[in-house]
Amino acid sequence: MGMNRKKRLLLGSCVCFVLVAGCAANEQELHYRELSEQEFSEKDAQHEEENHTTEESGNEKSNQQPVIENDGNTTTINGIVVVNKKYGVPADYAPGEDPTASAALHQLIADMQSLGLDISQDYSGFRSYETQADLYSSYVNAYGQEQADTFSARPGYSEHQTGLAYDLKHTNGMLVENETEAQWLLDHADEYGFIVRYQEGKEAITGYVAEPWHIRYIGEEATDIKNSGLCLEEYLHIE
Ligand SMILES: [Zn+2]
Repeated sequence: MGMNRKKRLLLGSCVCFVLVAGCAANEQELHYRELSEQEFSEKDAQHEEENHTTEESGNEKSNQQPVIENDGNTTTINGIVVVNKKYGVPADYAPGEDPTASAALHQLIADMQSLGLDISQDYSGFRSYETQADLYSSYVNAYGQEQADTFSARPGYSEHQTGLAYDLKHTNGMLVENETEAQWLLDHADEYGFIVRYQEGKEAITGYVAEPWHIRYIGEEATDIKNSGLCLEEYLHIE
């Protein structure tokens, strides 16, 4: 681990801290967006700067500096669409369910069922900005904003709005939490191109409590991410 990585880790921690240490609702939202933009340009600047430093000989993609692109809808980092507390999507971005992700999901569910696992055909996939706005505000009303932010994305910052994320349910309609099914997902979701996006021990980085039911379609690279033991932010060096 070189100096640059340490620097980034430190930067990431500071930003997380600032985000968690809230202020008044509207101000905080504004602050959030400002931070996102600031963070974005800082990373760009850092990227430029570090291009001139000695290249590491490592052949792992994760050792390279992140390449951050935005097409006006989504931010792609090293070729992976990223939506988190820093990188959002526009309110009018509504791609619906991604067909490749959806096909992979149906195969995963079918295979879980054939193994006798307790998994429902029913799931929560694509969510519009408006749906997420309703959901988030209902949680804020029930739990307060600070707590809501630990388990619910703000509108425009939900992976579900990309059509690449799914919440899986047990046959009783509850979100997947049972150890057997949760462990199966940790062990096998990557074979279908998915990662379990919010895991225990990564709360301080992702900003969310562990969600064993929430899987995110990545594609082939899901296996590298899983094997790295890193959450997506760490894997892409954007933590
Ligand atoms: Zn989810």
